[in-house]
Amino acid sequence: MSLSASGLGMTSPRARARMIERLRADGIAEERVLAAIAAVPRHLFVEEALASRAYEDSALPLGFSQTISQPFIVARMIEILMRGRELGKTLEIGAGSGYQAAVLAQLTPEVYAVERIAPLLARARLNLRKIQQFRVRLKHADGQQGLPEAAPFDTIIVSAAASELPHALLQQLAPNGRILLPFGTERQTLRLFERRAKNIAEIRVDSLVNFVPLLSGLE
Ligand code: SAH
Repeated sequence: MSLSASGLGMTSPRARARMIERLRADGIAEERVLAAIAAVPRHLFVEEALASRAYEDSALPLGFSQTISQPFIVARMIEILMRGRELGKTLEIGAGSGYQAAVLAQLTPEVYAVERIAPLLARARLNLRKIQQFRVRLKHADGQQGLPEAAPFDTIIVSAAASELPHALLQQLAPNGRILLPFGTERQTLRLFERRAKNIAEIRVDSLVNFVPLLSGLE
């Protein structure tokens, strides 16, 4: 793959390798996740003016009041979902730049992602094309309704904070499927739920996070 910005020190493979070392130092232990993050050039998912900051461990603005998630949070969420299992057929709510979807696509062949802001979705499409990632299926939709036409999913990962449990999403989980979502308004925590034979069980995970809110309707 040729990376136009690879001549710039800050976007070099070395900058990416340093980011991986930092994630490891911060406690990300799942090698599959670290390898997936190492494989995705994050600087191609942020605006050019911010490319030199793409491998800092910070959230960066995407426009439309949205942010590309901090690499640590992307890694942490996927690591939680991969604990002792494969991701399987995966749905992301809140595609934003397409970055996390690209990371997911390194880990599982079937990735769907929805985004409610049309220009962001267009950008995600473009970004994924830039890295020749054609496996992610993107749709302009309100993710609170999930993606019924492609359900059920083994994994659902929500990239915006919900203030109530999105029941449509719980219903679209396959047997033993799991959903991970940031939950809350001021103080947000990650919550993990699993579909069992007779009920939906919550599995405790400890993580304070800070996401933009999950909103209704399309823009
Ligand atoms: N995962 C993204 C960053 C997500 S930011 C990345 O890697 O770049 C959160 C995204 O969720 C924003 O783009 C926002 O528009 C989107 N979002 C918020 N509520 C949504 C909803 N109900 N349905 C779909 N997308 C939603």
